Amino acid sequence: MESTETAAARRLDGKVVAEAIRESLKPRIARFSASAGRPPGLGILLAGDDGGSEIYVRNKVRACEALGIRADLQRLPAEASLDEVMAIVAGFNAADAVDGVLVQSPLPPGMGADAEQQVFDAIDPAKDVDGFNPVNVGRLVQNRPALAPGTPSGIIELLERNGIPIEGRRAVVIGRSDIVGKPMAALLLHRHATVTICHSRTRDLPAVASTADILVAAIGRPGFVTADFVKPGATVIDVGTSRMTDRDRVAALFGRDSPRLEVIERRGATVVGDVHPGVAAVAGALTPVPGGVGPLTIAMLLSNTVRAAEARR
Ligand code: NAP
Repeated sequence: MESTETAAARRLDGKVVAEAIRESLKPRIARFSASAGRPPGLGILLAGDDGGSEIYVRNKVRACEALGIRADLQRLPAEASLDEVMAIVAGFNAADAVDGVLVQSPLPPGMGADAEQQVFDAIDPAKDVDGFNPVNVGRLVQNRPALAPGTPSGIIELLERNGIPIEGRRAVVIGRSDIVGKPMAALLLHRHATVTICHSRTRDLPAVASTADILVAAIGRPGFVTADFVKPGATVIDVGTSRMTDRDRVAALFGRDSPRLEVIERRGATVVGDVHPGVAAVAGALTPVPGGVGPLTIAMLLSNTVRAAEARR
C-alpha cells in the first residue's frame, strides 16, 4: 500500500527501526533480569472504556511480554474517581518491581479537565517512562539526561539510524503539543538543528514549512501537508494518525483505486497521516502511515522502561 503512496521519496520504515531498537534491548533486559532477580516491570493504568486506548494498551502489554518485560495492567471503570487513579499511581510509585509507570490517555472526561496533568505530576520522575512529568520536561529542555516522550524520541532514532543529518539543518515542526511538537523541537535543537515550531496561528504556513530540510507534521488533519509545504528533497516525518471511515473522502485523497478503500471495507477504517500522498513526488524521504512513526513510539516506551530499570539499580 505505502509503496505507491511514497513513489519517489525514500521510504523511512518505522517497523525496521523499531525492530532494531527491540533487538538492542534484549541483552540489556537479560543482564538486568539476571542481576536484579526479576525482569524490568511496567505498571500500566487504563481507566474507562475508550476503544482506541484498549487497542494501544493491548499492543503495549504484548510488546512488553514479547521482550521479557513484566507488564502489570490495572483497570478502572469510566466512572472511577481521580482519587482512585492517584491511589494506583501511588502503588506503582512505591512498588520495587515496577520500574516504569504509564497512565493511558485520555482519562475519562468525568475526572475533570486537568486530571491528566495532576496524574502526570504524581508519577515518580524516575519511573516516568512517558516523559510527561514536569521534572523530565524541564530536564529535557535543559538538555540533561531525561526520560523523553516516546514519539519524538523515536523520530530521532529513525533519522539517525537512516543517516539523515540533523546538525545545522533547518527543521520545522508543525504542532506544539506537550507530547509531540514541543519535545520534538527540543530534541532537534539539542542535535543542533535550527528549529521553527508552527501551529494553528502561524501565518503563511506553506512558506515557513518549505524552508525545512526536516519537516515534522504532528497536527491530526488527514492530508493537510501538501506538496507546496515541502522543499524538494526534504525529509518529511508524518506523525498524524487519523482514522478515516468515509470512502469518498479517502478516495478523494488517495484515488479511486487506492488499496485503502479495501482496508475500509475489511476493517471499517483506514489510518491516514497529516501528509498528502502528493508529497511523495517532492520529498527526499518520507515516513508512511501506517508503519512509520507509530511502531517507534512503542519501541521507545520499552527502551525508556529498560533505562528506568537500569537507573533505579
Ligand atoms: P494535538 O495536541 O491535537 O496538537 C495538534 C497541533 O496541531 C496543535 O499544536 C495545533 O495548533 C496544530 N494545528 C491544528 N490545526 C492546524 C492548522 N490548521 N495549521 C497548523 N497547525 C495546526 O495533537 P498531538 O497529540 O500532538 O497529535 C498530533 C497527531 O499525531 C494526531 O493525529 C495524533 O493522533 C498523532 N500522534 C501519533 C502518534 C504515533 O505514535 N504515531 C503519537 C502521538 C500522536 P494549536 O496549538 O494552535 O491549536
